[in-house]
Formats: sequence, C-alpha cells, structure tokens
Amino acid sequence: MICYKKELTVRYETDVCVVGGGPSGVAAAVAAARHGARVFLIESQGCFGGEGTVSLVPAFMPFTDGVNFLAGGIGREIYDRCVTENPDGVVGTTIGVQAEHLKRIYDDLVTAEKIDFLFFTTMVDVIARDGHVEQIVVAAKSGMYAISAGIFIDGTGDGDLCAWAGAPWEKGDQNGHVMPSTLCSMWVNIDWSERKNQAAELERAFLDHVFTQEDRHLPGIFKTGAHTGGGNIGHAFDVDGTNEADLTRGMIDGRKILLEYWKYYREYVKGGFAGAYPVLTGSTLGVRESRRIQGDYVMTIGDFNRRASFDDEIGRFSYPIDDHIAAPTKEAYEAFNREHTSMRYKKGENYGIPYRALLPRELDNVLVAGRCISTDKKMQSSIRVMPCCYITGQAAGTAAALAVEKAQNLRKICVSELQDRLLQMGAFLPNHR
Ligand SMILES: Cc1cc2nc3c(=O)[nH]c(=O)nc-3n(C[C@H](O)[C@H](O)[C@H](O)COP(=O)(O)OP(=O)(O)OC[C@H]3O[C@@H](n4cnc5c(N)ncnc54)[C@H](O)[C@@H]3O)c2cc1C
Repeated sequence: MICYKKELTVRYETDVCVVGGGPSGVAAAVAAARHGARVFLIESQGCFGGEGTVSLVPAFMPFTDGVNFLAGGIGREIYDRCVTENPDGVVGTTIGVQAEHLKRIYDDLVTAEKIDFLFFTTMVDVIARDGHVEQIVVAAKSGMYAISAGIFIDGTGDGDLCAWAGAPWEKGDQNGHVMPSTLCSMWVNIDWSERKNQAAELERAFLDHVFTQEDRHLPGIFKTGAHTGGGNIGHAFDVDGTNEADLTRGMIDGRKILLEYWKYYREYVKGGFAGAYPVLTGSTLGVRESRRIQGDYVMTIGDFNRRASFDDEIGRFSYPIDDHIAAPTKEAYEAFNREHTSMRYKKGENYGIPYRALLPRELDNVLVAGRCISTDKKMQSSIRVMPCCYITGQAAGTAAALAVEKAQNLRKICVSELQDRLLQMGAFLPNHR
C-alpha cells in the first residue's frame, strides 16, 4: 500500500458535467444544453456512441411498441437520420447501426448545441462529501485535473461515478453472475438476398467440434448496409465489466472465437454468408450488464408484468426481458428462450420509468442514466437497449437543467414541469397532459 498525494487544478467549472458519451450521456448533454444549462461532457474514447459505436453493437432495438413511438425527442432525431441516411440498414423495426455514420450523428448533435466536450478524458476519481459530489478527477493526455459542477450525470454505463461517490449498487444475480459480454464485429461481402436461419446448423457444427464452447444462443449478424453486417455473435462468460482483467480476457477470447464463427458462417450457414468475412472487431467489449445503481425507486420485474405507471414517469418503454444466459448450457438456453418469448408485450403495451429511478440513493447532486439506472436484474435486461438509454438520458439532462435554472435540489424540482419540458421535446408521456 502506498499513499499518493497530488495537488490538482480545477480546470473547468460548469453547471452540468456529464461523464460518458454513450447514448445516455449524449442524450443527457444535449437535453441539458437545450434547456439552457452550461454543459461539460467527457468521454474516454475518441468518439461518442459508447457500445453502439466503439463496441460495434450492430443494431437498435425498436424505438416503438408497434403503435407508439416511445423514444421521442432526441431518440427520434437519431432514428430519423439513421432511417433516411442509411435505408439499407433498415429491416422491419430493427435499425442496423453503421458505426461510422452513428458517430457523425452524435458529433452533429453535440456540436450543434455548442457543448464543451473532450474525448480521451477519463474520470478516475470522485471527490464527494456527505453525499454531495464536488469535483471529479480526470486523467487525460495533458495530465490529471479536476472538473467542478453543480450537477453530475453518470452516463458511464457501469455507474462508476455513482459507485465511487458512495451510492449503493447491485451486480448480477444472487451469485453475482451477470449476462455474458460479446465482442461485436463488422462483416463485409454479405449477399442479403439469400436469407438464412443463422442458428440452424449449430448442432451439426458442435458435433464437428467447430466451437470451443457449445453456445446455442446466437443473436446473429444484423444487416447494417447493402452488403455489410454487424456480428452480435459469441459470448464471453463471467466477465465483470468493472474489472479490467476480465475485460482483457473477454477481448482475447472474443477475437479467438470470432474465427470459429467465421468458419461456421462460411462452411455451415453458407448461402449469402459463404463469401462474408469480418473486417473489424470492437475496440471495447460489449458489456450487457454490470452495476445497477440503487435509486429512490428500484424498477422490478413486477413493474414489467403490470405495465406499471408512475406519477413521476419520464417516459415509457416496451422491450422484452432479454437476460442472456450466464453459462453455455442447453438448459440455460432453453430457459432463456422460454422467458424471452413469454416476457414480451403485445403491440401498444409499455411500462413507465419513474424519475426516482434516475436518482441514486445517498447522493444529492447526481443523476444516473442508461443501462445502469435503478432496476432489478430482470428489468435491467429490458431497459438496457439504446432507445431506452435515449429516454433516460434525455430526462436526466432535462432534470439537471431545470434544477440549475431554479437553483433547486434534484429531489425538489417540480416533476410536473419536468414532464412538461419532456413533452415539449417529444417524449411519450400519455399519462401527463
Ligand atoms: C453485445 C451487445 C449487444 C447489444 N445489442 C443491442 C441491440 O441490438 N440494440 C440496442 O438497442 N441495444 C443493444 N445493446 C445495448 C446497448 O448497446 C447498451 O446497453 C447501451 O449502449 C448502453 O448505453 P449507455 O449510455 O448506458 O452506456 P455505454 O454505451 O456503455 O456508454 C458509456 C460511455 O461512457 C464512457 N465511459 C465509461 N467510463 C468512463 C469514465 N470513467 N470516464 C469517461 N468516460 C467513460 C465509455 O467510453 C462509453 O462511451 C447491446 C449491448 C451489447 C453489449
């Protein structure tokens, strides 16, 4: 053990500091800026988009419930640009992600609001006293320094800011098992006119020992362009997304098993995939689940089942329970399939997301958005997808700006006014008129 002391300058002071420029962080920063707050956004990578760009997650899950557009506002702007500018990536309600295209959409959104932001800037510590975050400490090429803000928004996906500031959190099931991670990949030379059931030949390939693990859950290669696809294939099990040793193993294993899938697609699936090949893997591992920050309200599977409504809801969503298997066994996959097919809504059904799920317990000037908001494990597997991250990010940014404008504590803002502002932005709030 060593004691390391260092004096730091507070290089930036702002109203709202957003940490992490993934879907939730970008939506939060843009929303806060549009409502008049001075915003500083930091991102450790060299682009915005988080898992949707850096990790090459290949598709958006639906923005709608089949009747209503749920991710209205900033989500709608992103959706419209993806659909009109990359129509070859649209397959029904699934919108393929061209990572390069999506990066530029985020660049445009952030720069249009004149938000101060920095890439290659990583939060490494949080200075908090009595539940109040005063500064964050960042590390960048120029060294270490601090950023002060009235309000902080945690868009790190892993809840780093909240956890380091002292908010309670949970991770995984009762044994600590989280969903597996995936190293996503970019594929070219696909003939999409020859559609195939991508999982149909798995058992034959297992018998031929093509794979080092018998993983029956194959989300597949998603169409992202006329001849390109994004691979959400192969799982890295038992990876704790908050542990760099696990992440390192996941990257090495992910690159190794991708070769097995390449053989599988070439020699077993064939059809339009016979000549396809991967040209790139993600620069970061795709982590589906890590910390779940515990907030003033914890959304549960019960809320999913009852299509819950809340007085303080900031949006509604409808994606099924999608809790990927924690181990590659046949039984686990069959259980996943039963749950994934039964735990889904009919068209037009949706559940509410309360503002309280964005308010980490024991912290008074922090909001959390994205895949680590306050839920139980099952509910997290629904709220984690990108359209919902836009909903929670937009709400967090709007709430932060409102609190700054009124000089109020985040728990004292007028929720009805927050809902008014979200409605004006285009949010889906049918219970608030
Ligand atoms: C394999 C896989 C497949 C998926 N498939 C789909 C799909 O088909 N459709 C869909 O809609 N969703 C899908 N998802 C879910 C979705 O991509 C993520 O849940 C979503 O991107 C989470 O958004 P976020 O903003 O919470 O976090 P992230 O996307 O993880 O973004 C967090 C950002 O914060 C930055 N950051 C983290 N820590 C720090 C720090 N200390 N300092 C500075 N910056 C930091 C990161 O670099 C990152 O850019 C998938 C996820 C995975 C892993």
